[in-house]
Amino acid sequence: MKHLVTAPRRLLVLEDCLNDAELLRRSLSAEWPECEIVHVSTEAGFKTALEQGGCDLILSDYSLPCFAGLSALAVARERCPEVPFLFVSGAIGDGEAIESLKAGATDYVLKDRLARLIPAIRRALNEAQECVRRKQAEAQLRQSEEQYRDLFENATDLIQSVTPEGRFLYVNRAWRQTLDYTEAEVAQLSVFDVIHPEYHEICRDHFQSANSGEASPWEGIFLTKYGRQLYVEGNVSARFESGKLAATRWIFHDVTEAKLATVALKRSIRRYEALVNSVDGIVWQADLPSLRFSFVSQQAERLLGYPVSRWTEEPGFWQEHIHPEDREKAVTLCSSLTEQQKYQNFEYRMLAADGSVVWLRDIVSLRIENGGAPQIQGIMVNITPRKQAEAKVRRIQQELEATNKDLLRRNQEIQSFYHTLSHELKTPLTSAREFISILMDGLAGPVNETQMEYLGIAKESCNQLRVCINDLLDATRLETGKMALELKPVSLATLVQRVVTTMGPRAAGKQIALRHQVQPGLPDAPIDEHRMTQVISNLLNNAIKYTPPGGEIVVTAREAPAHPELLHVSVRDTGCGIAKEHQEHIFDRLYQVKAGDATTEQGVGLGLYLCRELVQLHGGNIWVDSELGQGSTFCFVLPKSQQMLQSNLLVIDDDPDVLDMLRQLLAAEQYNVRTARDGQEGLQEMRRQAPDIVLLDLKMPNLSGPATLKEIRKDWGQIPVIVHTAFADGELMKQALAFSPFTLLAKPCPAEQVVETVRKIQRAGDTAIWKRNHYGLPRPSMK
Ligand code: ADP
Repeated sequence: MKHLVTAPRRLLVLEDCLNDAELLRRSLSAEWPECEIVHVSTEAGFKTALEQGGCDLILSDYSLPCFAGLSALAVARERCPEVPFLFVSGAIGDGEAIESLKAGATDYVLKDRLARLIPAIRRALNEAQECVRRKQAEAQLRQSEEQYRDLFENATDLIQSVTPEGRFLYVNRAWRQTLDYTEAEVAQLSVFDVIHPEYHEICRDHFQSANSGEASPWEGIFLTKYGRQLYVEGNVSARFESGKLAATRWIFHDVTEAKLATVALKRSIRRYEALVNSVDGIVWQADLPSLRFSFVSQQAERLLGYPVSRWTEEPGFWQEHIHPEDREKAVTLCSSLTEQQKYQNFEYRMLAADGSVVWLRDIVSLRIENGGAPQIQGIMVNITPRKQAEAKVRRIQQELEATNKDLLRRNQEIQSFYHTLSHELKTPLTSAREFISILMDGLAGPVNETQMEYLGIAKESCNQLRVCINDLLDATRLETGKMALELKPVSLATLVQRVVTTMGPRAAGKQIALRHQVQPGLPDAPIDEHRMTQVISNLLNNAIKYTPPGGEIVVTAREAPAHPELLHVSVRDTGCGIAKEHQEHIFDRLYQVKAGDATTEQGVGLGLYLCRELVQLHGGNIWVDSELGQGSTFCFVLPKSQQMLQSNLLVIDDDPDVLDMLRQLLAAEQYNVRTARDGQEGLQEMRRQAPDIVLLDLKMPNLSGPATLKEIRKDWGQIPVIVHTAFADGELMKQALAFSPFTLLAKPCPAEQVVETVRKIQRAGDTAIWKRNHYGLPRPSMK
């Protein structure tokens, strides 16, 4: 046995016999001179000594006169059970010895064998110390076991210990809680009940290939009691006992959330990639300032034919494949992006793999993330078809311009020819007519009846020719803008009456009843008397011309029904009427309806054209209602006041200088001009009062020109619009074209051209038709 104690420091001796006590003391002191020997002989002394404590061992007589040795033992066991208790007795029988040992004595020594005492004390002390040491070790073990259990139980990782057969030796609380099993249920489980079947094979492999080396990593799927799948990651190690696999130890943690997040992330990346690749444009990203591409979508390959990898792997790939003429501009624009100027939008050409040229519109933006290196990103859209279409439109426009110029030139030639012809004809015609008159008046000698009749016919032919020549001259004047009206207050009623009176004999000569109805009290209106006489005479002439004998012609003048601001004149006949298909053309220049019978005298087809132009110059409108074989009614309206003659213009432009300039320019030309600073304001203004003509800018804030035009077409139909823009061939123009027709004026436009364009539109049939529809001008019925 190992000697744990070298020497006791304090020994308690309970002995009533002083000699024996002295004997013991001597023996003990001889062995352990340093040791304190405390001698007591009574129960009280014994108890006091015990209370003082510090005794390494108790020696007691077995039989004391008033305090039995066993009682002392009982007291000692109670108060200091760990201190060895030896009986030293003169006579102790075997039975008593056994009884004392049972009662807790450590040993006993007979007084006549005191030689045994010291070894017995030594042994007892050793045993006591051994016992204390063992207890301490046991306590430590218990404590450390508890610590480990506490550690495992409170670990957040899932821990399991499994036998090679798959039975659970231990699972920690996190395991039970995560997998929803109670301790009792775990006892009934096999590891294969909680591992997803897909992982059984791998699990068995772990059992078979287990070795005592390092733990091996493991990941798999566990199933909770309720079947929920749990993605786990961790490691497995093995414990061997006597060279045999005793258990596998698994420590793992739940990574379900992370796993699902990864799956979701992958799915979202796939979705994003699909989206980016389905965009009908090249989505890209590049580093600055190198302009090296870090990403480019699949569309790049489809559009330009180079593999996507070349874009990202070859530095300078993009720059090298830009059309040489556009390279510098494109690179400079991309490189010049800054915090202040984050966006660029430009067009350039790239050279495709097949050698073709592809036009791209690149919408680029700067991106600086969390103070990292700046990047640029963008989307390149294929605009080749648009560019080709634009080139085609430009070509067609040029051709049209050339044709227009040619037509204009020819028209001018014809007009000047008409003019010359009319003048050249007019002089000899006048002298021919004068000479005929001289002859008829008998100033050149007597004329017989037949000669007089022939001269009459000649004179009438001269008159007709004069009318034709005058019409031709008037038409030329109108077209060259040289026809000016002399408006002054005139009584339309008187004018009508006079013309009817003048034409009376002609109607009577053809047995046609000619009447007139004039509303009493009609006010004077701003009228060019000569021209209005011409209009009504023309209409009346036609009525007489196209009405057979026995027919009737009625001329009326009154206020327009439902439009007291207008005067209304109608010439109704019971003549041959006009077929529907001709009605919309008869006011056109030189338009004639072929007469069925050769007897009808035909003019040159300028009469109605002049009527329409003159009525419109008066600010009025003319139309016909007719039915073949039934007769015709020609109607026109005229404004009662001068003010109504002025056309209302609305100028919509965001440039205040342009607005001001146009307002002054057009107001000086007697137009009523209103202005609006953007599309929205323009539409509001139009809703307040519809103008006759709109001048519209294209590039404006709030509501762009094309968007405004769209609204205008929706609510005001074909109201004449002049698009006045500096972007005559841009994207806005393309959008605006969808809402044509309109007249185009490219900014900056000379003042006289603006005025001339407005005038032309004002006189054009479109304005008149629009006006008529818009104002709902009255159309008289046939009855
Ligand atoms: P024209 O000199 O031929 O009369 P206009 O311009 O005056 O030319 O008239 C054009 C055409 O309209 C004529 O050719 C004729 O057929 C038709 N027209 C004009 N007025 C009438 C009418 N009152 N009745 C029937 N047809 C008419």
